[in-house]
Amino acid sequence: MKAFEATELYFTRAADHLQLDDSMRKLLLTPKRQVQVQVPVEMDNGELKTLLGYRVQHDDARGPMKGGLRFHSDVDLDEVRALATLMTWKTAVVDIPYGGAKGGVNVDSRSLSVRELERVSRKFIDQIHDVIGPDTDIPAPDMGTNAEVMAWIRNQWEKYHGFNPAVITGKPVELYGAKGREEATGRGVGILSFKLLRRLGRNPHETRVAIQGFGNVGSHAAKLLAESDFNVVAVSDISGGYYQPDGLDIPDVLRYSLDHQGSLEGYPHAQRLSNEAILELDVEMLIPAAVGGVIHKDNVARVTAPMIVEAANGPINPDADEILEQRGTIVLPDILANAGGVTVSYFEWVQNRQHYKWGLDRVRQELDSVLSTAFEEVWQESQQHKISLRLAAYVIAIRRVCYATKLSGV
Ligand code: GLU
Repeated sequence: MKAFEATELYFTRAADHLQLDDSMRKLLLTPKRQVQVQVPVEMDNGELKTLLGYRVQHDDARGPMKGGLRFHSDVDLDEVRALATLMTWKTAVVDIPYGGAKGGVNVDSRSLSVRELERVSRKFIDQIHDVIGPDTDIPAPDMGTNAEVMAWIRNQWEKYHGFNPAVITGKPVELYGAKGREEATGRGVGILSFKLLRRLGRNPHETRVAIQGFGNVGSHAAKLLAESDFNVVAVSDISGGYYQPDGLDIPDVLRYSLDHQGSLEGYPHAQRLSNEAILELDVEMLIPAAVGGVIHKDNVARVTAPMIVEAANGPINPDADEILEQRGTIVLPDILANAGGVTVSYFEWVQNRQHYKWGLDRVRQELDSVLSTAFEEVWQESQQHKISLRLAAYVIAIRRVCYATKLSGV
């Protein structure tokens, strides 16, 4: 199933629940604008490469459009459109005043040198600078991009439009970035996992957790969960899985990864497993924090964790999701579970616009407050209507976007 078909399917279920008419469905599913651009870049060896770049602006009924830029070899229009749509529901479910967008370049960022990465970033912005801006569409980091890329993008955009750091979020803290932005998505996953556990009447120390993916999101989630007394027994990255049935020493794993250029290859204090086997471990909580589509109809029978927190975007295919729901697995959906990142992006944008810097404590407190409110709303909606947390999150988000659309008049 293509990425956009999957988001459309969840949308349709929520739209049926809300009894939306066909014209509103069509309006909410059709992106406002889709841009595809040519990104010609000179590689270090003098070769000219022509890459494809995209920005899809899905909906702005609730505010300027917001969403990351992904540099990855899977990027295409279908994926970007699906992710832009998810951003509209994500900003709505946590009730921050934004719409949704997403963009990216079809390139494997790991295959580029730092100078090549900078040239790709700047060339891409040369092509799309006039469709983004602090009041219209505000990009941010995503897979394959980071704070440094955001700094180049801001610099390139300002060459055309003048000083305005609020054009992009996820910038380095030294260059108008927000304290706590980098940890925010992983921290949010941790905060929400804790809320879920409390609602289910479980204890962190009796909760064994497996985390697939140890990048920015997975590693910060592991840190917060370990600090909150969860028993993190397995983590994985592209080098494979690392499993310690009695619990991993997460500070030690983090140190190892820092000392080895972000890789866990060779980590000595754990059993080695494959990345797929991580998903099938006997644990109470599974956190897929890498790419989309990792739980599908062919492996879902072996995925036995009773709680799954979707730290990645779209890690469960809809056919597998249906089987999990029938089985009673509790799934905390991506549009809520990983919304911590865009929430702190919003705080960064607010600080940039106010020319006023917040301390880390304030960022963390306000993140906790936004996510706690959103979690309770989704939980109550799901209890009241006896629907899954995913359907409840979509219902709340789509209701908000629909209401904003009607209030401002089409
Ligand atoms: N790329 C992140 C996401 O998918 C963050 C987006 C943002 O901060 O605008 O939610």
